[in-house]
Amino acid sequence: MQPVLTLTPEEHRHILASNPLLLPFDLNEIFFSVQGEGTRAGLPCVFVRLHGCKLRCSYCDTKYAIDRRSGGLSVTGAEIDERVRGFGCRFVEFTGGEPLEQPNVFGLMKYYCDEGFTVAVETGGHVDTSLVDERVIRIIDMKTPSSKMMPKNNYHNLDTLRPHDEVKFVIGSREDYEWSRELTTKYDLPRKTAAVLFSPVFGTVEYKQIVEWILEDRLDVRFQLQMHKFIWHPDTRGV
Ligand code: SF4
Repeated sequence: MQPVLTLTPEEHRHILASNPLLLPFDLNEIFFSVQGEGTRAGLPCVFVRLHGCKLRCSYCDTKYAIDRRSGGLSVTGAEIDERVRGFGCRFVEFTGGEPLEQPNVFGLMKYYCDEGFTVAVETGGHVDTSLVDERVIRIIDMKTPSSKMMPKNNYHNLDTLRPHDEVKFVIGSREDYEWSRELTTKYDLPRKTAAVLFSPVFGTVEYKQIVEWILEDRLDVRFQLQMHKFIWHPDTRGV
């Protein structure tokens, strides 16, 4: 299965017509923890981390999940589903790596929506998200200058936002902050989404400084820290 950045409507229809439990996936890990970020921070959640990502962000904290050549586990949707249901939690988030680089996840997300789960997907800004099921909460991570991946951003994603979506900016410098502020204003993100998240690169910028900038500019955004990195050691996996 080759990763794709934009799914054609035909491919999308084909995937949705297939049984998602029979489809193959490249999996990194599945774990049960509390949501560490966004408007649902603190809520119990099952995380399905798919394996592989085409980007190489400078601040990536899941480098173990980006190289498609090694480290992934070939599984079916049924195997994922068995693990997910085993946790007895009705909130599931697909993450990565980049989950949307595996087109079959579009079918699996729809399956969980149909089954009455609350479904979220955390995606980098480079994949087209417009064909994600409307019930799925899309958390779109736009790539700031210090990520070194900014040219890969797919800005079309900001034109197709839905009210329950969230847009996240990972900020490692003043330049990142200003870029994020400009995009927030240009696309009127606070009005179009549930939350605009300004999240510092862990351990590299003064958290207080970012908060002060936000207050100074009266920005209607939400400052956040990645809660799991404070509860557990920052390098702990599967939390
Ligand atoms: S998009 Fe996410 S998973 Fe991919 S390299 Fe960047 S931070 Fe890592």
